[in-house]
Amino acid sequence: MSLLMRGVTLTYPDGASRLRALDAVDFTVNGGEFSAVVGRSGSGKSSLLAVAGTLLTPDEGGVTVAGTPVHELDDACRTRLRRDRIGIVFQQSNLIAALTAAEQLELAGHLRGHPRRDRARRARELLAAVGLDEAQQSRRPHQLSGGERQRVNIARALVAEPALLLVDEPTAALDEERSAQIVALLGALTRDRGLATVMVTHDLAHLAAVDRVHRMADGRLSEVEQSTVA
Ligand code: ADP
Ligand code: MG
Repeated sequence: MSLLMRGVTLTYPDGASRLRALDAVDFTVNGGEFSAVVGRSGSGKSSLLAVAGTLLTPDEGGVTVAGTPVHELDDACRTRLRRDRIGIVFQQSNLIAALTAAEQLELAGHLRGHPRRDRARRARELLAAVGLDEAQQSRRPHQLSGGERQRVNIARALVAEPALLLVDEPTAALDEERSAQIVALLGALTRDRGLATVMVTHDLAHLAAVDRVHRMADGRLSEVEQSTVA
């Protein structure tokens, strides 16, 4: 089990009271499994990813990532778990404007202490795996299309060889055809690398490509029949 969440409740301050963004959520994702979380804006999808990614600590409940119970870790260990075992692709791309695609990944390897030779080789291997050729690997973000930038984001999230890949609205800024390609790519990476992948989306068009679909509504998560949403 790469991700196990049990009874997870998360609240935010909301004036005099608290807003319940996650309400007793149970969620399991195994290695090699591509899971989608759908739901309206404001239903709690990004909050779910933030807790799964150990960026937020829930008020109640337990989160286990790659066999490690997160609540038993101190801050330093939690940071290391996030850095080494979890790949996160945020809703807003945070590529560095001055760096080429290859350099974005090499920097991510550097921050994780990978040796220089391995960093360059791994950057090339991952960028090829997400479908970017050598010319594209040498381009900076403004020289790439939205779909190509999203591929760089995904490749960068895989630098550490994570067990868990969390992706927030990867198709939000893409047209229909490019959205389908990105979802297919996430499926292929999930299978080939044994990742446990969670894709948050409000785009119901490409759910045939995922293994399981969950719906978030007012902080409550439930699994749904794929055929009823796609
Ligand atoms: P989604 O990703 O499905 O749009 P979010 O997880 O971002 O939903 O938000 C769930 C709810 O929590 C929303 O009502 C949102 O306004 C609220 N919320 C999200 N982040 C914060 C925050 N940092 N502080 C207070 N409320 C928040
Ligand atoms: Mg969101």
